Amino acid sequence: MNLNDLKQFFDDYPDYRWEQARTAIFQQKIRSWNEASTLPKKIRQELKQKFPLRLPGSFLTTADGKTTKAVLDLADGLQVETVLMRYDNSRNTVCVSTQVGCSLGCEFCATGDMGFKRNLTAGEIISQVLYFSRKLPSDERIDNVVFMGMGEPFLNYGETLKALRLLNNEKYFNIGARNMSVSTAGIVPGIKLFAEENIQVNLAISLNAADDQTRSSLMPVNRQYPLVELFHAIDYYIAKTNRKVMFEYILLKGINDGEKDIRKLVGLLRERMHFLNLIPYNPTERFISVSATRLQEFKHQLEKAGLNVGIRRSFGQKIKAACGQLACDSSK
Ligand code: SF4
Repeated sequence: MNLNDLKQFFDDYPDYRWEQARTAIFQQKIRSWNEASTLPKKIRQELKQKFPLRLPGSFLTTADGKTTKAVLDLADGLQVETVLMRYDNSRNTVCVSTQVGCSLGCEFCATGDMGFKRNLTAGEIISQVLYFSRKLPSDERIDNVVFMGMGEPFLNYGETLKALRLLNNEKYFNIGARNMSVSTAGIVPGIKLFAEENIQVNLAISLNAADDQTRSSLMPVNRQYPLVELFHAIDYYIAKTNRKVMFEYILLKGINDGEKDIRKLVGLLRERMHFLNLIPYNPTERFISVSATRLQEFKHQLEKAGLNVGIRRSFGQKIKAACGQLACDSSK
């Protein structure tokens, strides 16, 4: 959906017509202009031709109904994946993608294997949330959005910010800024820009290792922005915003789960406003996940040393919708 063009279409009409259209799309969640009963038939006909509201794609839901992965078809024939996670107390979280593929090639990530195809527009990013809002029962809404799907949001900075502002805008999705998180692999200029935005959206850093050697072997972006530079940017962000930073740490057996990793993590995080999310790895032929006992031990030791730590629940492994598993075949 190209929102700018749609908005421009209404330039020839009184302002309230655009408001009626916007309400129909984002509040009533219409799927066809036929349902926009407040708009005159002539306008609806024209809109049907020029701005179809269909969001083509397919989806797959886990047996427990908690995770749905959708593959959306984009206008140029590429595809993008997005995931809906439904928690027990019916909190609905959408994990959105910001790029088709990704150029950063993290070793533990299926998206990285695809290579980079292109950036998504803000319209394509918010369409992922719209897709799932339409699927929910009428008394439910999307409560949280995490920018943790395919791609590196800070390498598509402008469109990511536009999408965040539209999701937050009460006339569009009205999702609280504090209920949204953007995760970066550590793009330093993006972190600094984000610090200046005066926006309450959470910043998450995909950390995954506490020393340069290990991190560079897992995440090539660390060679460009090593830990010392990354943490300078993080300190700048914390000083500017007075907000804590979330850190994500995928535990990989024999790689980043040792005693020395615990010591280094404590050294990096203890004095900084932080929350550390430990993420159980979804096994592949490349890496082995740690045992549940080791995961608890690792968490316990970090807590004893003064860190704020949680374990991220993993959703949708069976349908390849969990962290690091998104990689649709966009090669066509
Ligand atoms: S983890 Fe994120 S940044 Fe790294 S390759 Fe995957 S999508 Fe890109």
